[in-house]
Amino acid sequence: MPTPISHAAVGFAIAAWTQQAPPTRRVCLVAAACAALPDIDVIVSPLHLAETSLFAHRAITHSLTFALLAAAVATLIFFRGPEWTQRRARIAVILGLALVSHACFDALSRYSWGVEFFAPFSLQRFRFVWTPLGDSSSLAGQLVQEAIVVLLPAILVGWLGFKIRRRGLSPKAASA
Ligand SMILES: [Zn+2]
Repeated sequence: MPTPISHAAVGFAIAAWTQQAPPTRRVCLVAAACAALPDIDVIVSPLHLAETSLFAHRAITHSLTFALLAAAVATLIFFRGPEWTQRRARIAVILGLALVSHACFDALSRYSWGVEFFAPFSLQRFRFVWTPLGDSSSLAGQLVQEAIVVLLPAILVGWLGFKIRRRGLSPKAASA
């Protein structure tokens, strides 16, 4: 935690606001998937791995290296057609941001291990100085806190971005 759903909502919001207007659903959905992707380590790596392992939780899949590679691969897979040529570079950056947002939100949490931002070059784990997530002692409390602090704001911001930017709000209409 934060849960994959919260991460995905953050990725969706990033894409809704940063892609070329009008935002497309495809970029938002792929960014959402990218933002949730780093937690694939929970599924593919045995949980008994030591904290210092490259394949443990919050290790290689949460690194900047992985973000770079995964963004490039996802862009090539999902935005291959000629209709994306003009926007492809920007989309790759957006997907990279979505991936990095995952590690950053994890680094804001107090529970579990820190994040190996620089794997595989360094296995040092980091947490931000400010760790507002995970204050509650119970899992239910943690989920409620996360829903209020991360999930609901991200859904709202993402939905607003998608709606407003899709409508192509002109400066005239915005000031009215
Ligand atoms: Zn994670």
